Parts: sequence; C-alpha cells; structure tokens
Amino acid sequence: MEARVARYPELHTVPENPSARPELRASRCRECGHLSFPARRFGCPACGAPPDSAEEARLAGDGTLDVFTVVHRGPGPDTPYAVGRVQLEAGIEVDAILAPDSLEDLAPGQSVKTCLVAVGEDEAGATLVECRFRPEASG
Ligand SMILES: [Zn+2]
Repeated sequence: MEARVARYPELHTVPENPSARPELRASRCRECGHLSFPARRFGCPACGAPPDSAEEARLAGDGTLDVFTVVHRGPGPDTPYAVGRVQLEAGIEVDAILAPDSLEDLAPGQSVKTCLVAVGEDEAGATLVECRFRPEASG
C-alpha cells in the first residue's frame, strides 16, 4: 500500500485505510470541556485552566458549511480554490480549505466531511496529504 504522511500531523490523523476519513486532532479542557482546534498549547481560553488541563480530543470531521469564499489569486493551492468556515457537529467552528469536485457545487448550509488530498511527496517518496472538507454529495 502506498505510504501517506500528513504534512501537518498535529492537525489530523491519517487512517491506514485509504477510504477511511481523517479525524481532527483537537484538545478538550478537563476542567470545563471547552474544545479547541487546532489543539491548544496554552491555557484554556474559556476558563483559564493551565495547559496541562488539556487532553487530546479526536473529532469526526462531519459538519455544515457556514460561509465560504473563492480565492482567485494568491499563495497556497492552485487557484481558484475555496476556503470556508465549517460548523462541526462536535460544536466548534473551523476554517478550512474546501475540496469540492467543482466550485459550483458549494452552497452555504450543505453537509461537508473531511477528506485527505495529496499535495506532494516527502524526501522518502511517501505521499504528503492535507485534510480538506468536501460536500457530502461529492462522495
Ligand atoms: Zn476550560
């Protein structure tokens, strides 16, 4: 099987099974339950608990697309591409790059799920992947 490595391993898992979806690596405050994504390294923004009160919380990447915009020029992925704010079922919002089959498929309020997209290769020849969100209808 082709090796896949996360470009940003602190952000999400890379399942062995290529058809499985990545989970987001968030953190949860043991004092008040506050979720943060990306995982926080400092004190809890909600209750002020110290950094050692945080534990890893893996979140399924199911959510609803709140708003999005299409980027036509700039650094990063090949343009045009879309970025959006996703309301996760876990109860927090994340800003993310979207990966629809077509930019015209995007609509506010639609269900989106995490997926992994290949973005290059590392020095060892493994495929580098990043987590994106795609509309559920796109598969
Ligand atoms: Zn807290």
